Amino acid sequence: MELDIGWSDGVTISTKECAIRFDPSKKGVKSFNFISHAHGDHTMGLSNGNEIFLTAETRDILDSGGRKNLNCNALKYDRPVEIDKLKITPFNAGHILGSAQFKIETPDLTIVYTGDINCRDMLTTSAAKAVSCDTLILETTYGNPSYIFPRQEEVYTEIIDWILSKIHEEKIPTFKVYSTGKAQEIMRLVNKFTTIPVVAHHTISKISEAYNKNGVALKYIDSNSEEGKKILREKQCVYITPSSEDALIDEDYSKAIATGWAMRYKSSVSYTAFPLSNHADFNQLLNYVEQAKPKRVYTVHGFRDDFGKYLKKNLGINAKPITHLSQVNLGRYI
Ligand SMILES: [Zn+2]
Repeated sequence: MELDIGWSDGVTISTKECAIRFDPSKKGVKSFNFISHAHGDHTMGLSNGNEIFLTAETRDILDSGGRKNLNCNALKYDRPVEIDKLKITPFNAGHILGSAQFKIETPDLTIVYTGDINCRDMLTTSAAKAVSCDTLILETTYGNPSYIFPRQEEVYTEIIDWILSKIHEEKIPTFKVYSTGKAQEIMRLVNKFTTIPVVAHHTISKISEAYNKNGVALKYIDSNSEEGKKILREKQCVYITPSSEDALIDEDYSKAIATGWAMRYKSSVSYTAFPLSNHADFNQLLNYVEQAKPKRVYTVHGFRDDFGKYLKKNLGINAKPITHLSQVNLGRYI
């Protein structure tokens, strides 16, 4: 079976009969579109009139953000769909609620597209497992040896200690984080280890409804409610707000961010930084490759060049970065 793998407004696998595109970046290109998860940089090509496949949980998150009645096929983990002669199966990617990696089986070979992936158990997601394949298309955001994250428990403890110290100082410990995934992780951490109420910015509280609906229990109070406003005035709470929110200049608020980039960009005078990530670090990526045993790896995002070179040099694997600059035909299989 003739098959091309390349970049054409998204990672694209095409046969003579059809094109399958993962996380397309533009609208309007004719293909079957698979969306790995609900983050904005992976959903830019939604609503483009093409047939869309995503997990039911991803659909719920998109619904909560106002993209209701999305015309899509809701998938379940481990249940394949067939398109032309390709069998495509979603598996847990461990990144945020509903995130999926996809295994694509052809008559001749097996390809895996990971999307954003995380191979450690978190409080709101379980670890992704490596999927055996011939060709691996791997997300390499942190594919550099300077990004080896500390033990999760250490980071959780640091965060809780910081929250308690700020409350003691009569400040409001405030997390400026991604509204989907990181916000719920912080929320669950506070719920699990303290009795401090969590006030969530309205955007985050809408998305958190999708988590509760799908069995990830979260307790929070909407910042727009009378109760939320009252608790914020009393300063006896944790506040979680989107990273894009600039309004908090009040000295009552002590700000923190939580991201893998905190390994490099340490705390500053205006915020405290915690290295809490829902992406795989360098070691997790390496473990994934060693367990999946691909013959060929394409690296996407972040340190794609560094990680590709490392695989070639140290594991002897044929590895190439996928750049987003142009349409590139990366491989042809007969
Ligand atoms: Zn993501």
